[in-house]
Parts: sequence; structure tokens; C-alpha cells
Amino acid sequence: MKEVTYSSTRGEGVKYTASMAVLKGLASDGGLFVPDHIPSLDKTLAELAEMDYQNLAYEVMKLFLTDYTEDELRGCIARAYDSKFDTPEIAPLSESCGSYYLELWHGATIAFKDMALSLLPHLMTTAAKKNGLQKEIVILTATSGDTGKAALAGFADVPGTRIVVFYPKSGVSPIQEKQMVTQRGDNTLVVGIHGNFDDAQTGVKKIFGDTEFAKELDEKGFVFSSANSINIGRLVPQVCYYVYAYTRLLKEGRIKDGELINVCVPTGNFGNILAAFYAKLMGLPVGKLICASNTNKVLFDFFESGTYDRNREFHVTTSPSMDILISSNLERLIYFIAGNSSDRCAQLMGELSGNGNYTITDEEKKGLADFYGGYADEKETADQIKKIYEKSGYVIDTHTAVASYVCDKYKEKTGDDTPVVIASTASPYKFTRSVMNAIDPEYDKKTDFELIDDLAKLSNTTVPQAIEDIRSAPVLHKTECDVNEMKSVIAGFLK
Ligand SMILES: *Cc1c(COP(=O)(O)O)cnc(C)c1O
Repeated sequence: MKEVTYSSTRGEGVKYTASMAVLKGLASDGGLFVPDHIPSLDKTLAELAEMDYQNLAYEVMKLFLTDYTEDELRGCIARAYDSKFDTPEIAPLSESCGSYYLELWHGATIAFKDMALSLLPHLMTTAAKKNGLQKEIVILTATSGDTGKAALAGFADVPGTRIVVFYPKSGVSPIQEKQMVTQRGDNTLVVGIHGNFDDAQTGVKKIFGDTEFAKELDEKGFVFSSANSINIGRLVPQVCYYVYAYTRLLKEGRIKDGELINVCVPTGNFGNILAAFYAKLMGLPVGKLICASNTNKVLFDFFESGTYDRNREFHVTTSPSMDILISSNLERLIYFIAGNSSDRCAQLMGELSGNGNYTITDEEKKGLADFYGGYADEKETADQIKKIYEKSGYVIDTHTAVASYVCDKYKEKTGDDTPVVIASTASPYKFTRSVMNAIDPEYDKKTDFELIDDLAKLSNTTVPQAIEDIRSAPVLHKTECDVNEMKSVIAGFLK
């Protein structure tokens, strides 16, 4: 197997093994780690169709994480994709109204972040062992709601690690907040910041780039890493479920071997859809990558015009995990369409942090031909939930509804009838109020937990354990801070 090495999108010029890239999270020049080449699948789709999730995940990830031994990687996978998931299929497909919903929310925290964050702690502690790292790993994470809880659940009480999560105090759903502030584990800290997700993410990136601070902590025996989707150890596990979805359709005889599928992804930080693009580059027969945004449609505008411009009003929506104006992982795509030029990528990212915008050339724009951008506003999102429910009885969450709407619009506009896999990124139980209000505004009078019971009746499903767990759980985290206090909060926690 050909070794894959990782280097920064901004030209730091150092080559890392996969395990070192996982440990570091972010390059020291602020760039993201990218593989030196995208490996090709080395098993046929028919062979992969015979495998369960765990074995298939191994076949995909071994190609990227080339310095992990087979035993190491299989061990990580076995510990990640186990009975924490409420179905042995791990990521089942559900057909509704002419599309396939890939349900990525059967893990511990009922959002798709579990798909990668169940694995990342194992990849990281294995990497620490492999590389003889003696220090305690401090995971710093900014969250728009779902990453935080999934990372907390993954890292809580993992020996040799601590985790600090920053979330926008007024920018997550009540259930998302309750899930995070009730987190147990002596090595966890959850902090609500007075600002939005971009403030949290920018703050965390700044701390990563603060070499003075890193040195101080190094002397105390700590080293930072990231559980955000900027970590390559988040991205690689996400490639697997697109291959899995394709091979399930193949196995069920819904598509022929080699037939194209389209993929539609509700997008925020651009990690999930980038993973689908990597799957395509590995040889998975994917046609269009439909990128769905909510009212914060910075990506839609980028695909339309070639200009990325974050200078705009920020909207708090009913799909908060997509309320993002700086989609970090887009940097990896920019690097790719610039012909793997770190100079060009660094230049554009410099413009983004300077003026808040950049424009790609017509030549570079050609590299985006596989992508199609669309968006749904708040009313369109709510109407889509109601429409799908009334037509089929299937209840989708607000994020999935954004994708579902954009997918229907895409089919209508283009007449493209290629089978579509929609990434269903959260359980409707995570956004119960918005979901139930969409179905009938009368529900708004009820309490959150009444609505949860109503949703169970209406959708004929059982309330997930993750929700049962927070019904009576005590609040354990009450820290709040301003954006400029993030660093001192961390220093206090590590004293
Ligand atoms: C994180 C998240 C998204 C956005 O995914 P990205 O990889 O950041 O684009 C969409 N939906 C839900 C429910 C999420 O938690």
C-alpha cells in the first residue's frame, strides 16, 4: 500500500504521518492537513457490499491512515462502532419521497458528529502511544452545537486527555445546550461564550496559533489538539459512510454496479460534503455533490459567483449547526482546485482573514464543476418537514430538511433523476421544538419534554437514550466568558 503523508494547505513544508497529523490537528502555520494524494479504493464495490460497517470502514480508512497497523486500526474501529450505536447497521438508509436518507445519527449523541467522534479519541490515543508522546492531550473545540457533545462523549474520562468545549451561549438549541452542560467526566470543561460560532472557532484557532501559550503549557506537560472537523482524523471516518451507502444500495439491487448516485449534504463547516468529494476521488461513482445551506448561504453565493464573502449579516436559524460564515474545510477544496498550490491557498486565506473575502479565477472555478449549491430559508425548511411528514410519515430534523428541500429543488430545476443520497445529520429529537412547530404551530405551547413524547407518538419511534439521559441530569457546567477571555479560562482549567 502506498504511504499517504500529510502537509499544510498553507505551505509550512513539513510532511507528517497520518498519526502525527491526527495528534497535531492543525498545522502550525494555521493551515489544514491534506493528504499528498487521494488513494483509490482497492476492493471492488461488489466486495465492499458484502462487508459490515466495521470491515468496510477498515478498508476505506487503511488507505488514508497508512502508518496505523492493521491491529491498531481495527481495534480503534471495534471500540468506536459498537453498542453505542442503536443499530448494528450503524448508518442505515431510509427511503422517503423518492430520496434515500442516510441516517448518520444512531450514535451516542444523536447527530452525525458521532460517526467521526466515536473514533477520534481512539485514533488519537493510539497515535500518542505510537509516537511516544508523554504529554496530556488537551482537546480544544469550538462547537455550533453537535460537535461539542459528541466530542465530550468521546473524550470523557479517556486517560491522558482533557477536553474544553466552547459553544455560543445563545446560539444552540435548548436540547443541545442541556446535553453539553450535563456532561460528566473530571477531564471535561464546557464554556458558553458571548458570541457566535465563528467567534468561538476563530478564538480557538487563535489559541492554536499562540506559540507562547503552547510553550507555557508544554512546560506543564500539556499539548493541544483539535476535535473539530479541521482534524484529518474527523474527515477520514466520514468518507466511509458514503462508500457504505453506495454499497447498501448496490446490495439491495436499487442501483447497478458503477451507476452514478448524487449526494446532498446539509453543510456548515464543509467537512461532511468534503468527505463525499474524497469518496468520489477514491473512485466511488458519485455524480453531483449538492451543497445545501440555510439562510447563512455564504457557500451558495461562492458556488454561484466564485467570490467567498463573509462580510454579511449572521442569522441564527432553526438549523444552528449550519449557522457558519467561515466554512473551515473549504480551505481543503480551495487547495485542491488551485492545483495543490499552498502559495495560492495561503494567499486566498490571507485575504479572507484580512478583508473577509476572496475571489477565485475562472480556471479555478472549473474545479468546482462537481458541486451544486442551493439553500433553504426558514419557511422553506419548516414546510419541507411538514411535507415529508404528511406524505410519508417520516420525520426529519431541521438540518436534514434544508438538504431535502434543496434536493427537491435541484431535481425540479435540472430534471436530473439520478438516485440521491441525502445525508441525514441529526435525529429530529435533537431539534424537537422546531420540528414539531413545523408540523403544527400549536405545539409551541408545550414544554420541551412534552414535545419529545408527542414526537415519539407522531413518528412512531422510541425516544433515544441520549434524550432520556438528560431529562433529569443535573447541570454540571456553568462557566460563561467573553471571546477575549477564552485563553484565561483554559489556563484556569489546566492549573
Ligand atoms: C455539524 C452539522 C452539520 C454541518 O456539517 P459540516 O461538516 O460542518 O458541514 C449539519 N447538520 C448537523 C446536524 C450538524 O451537526
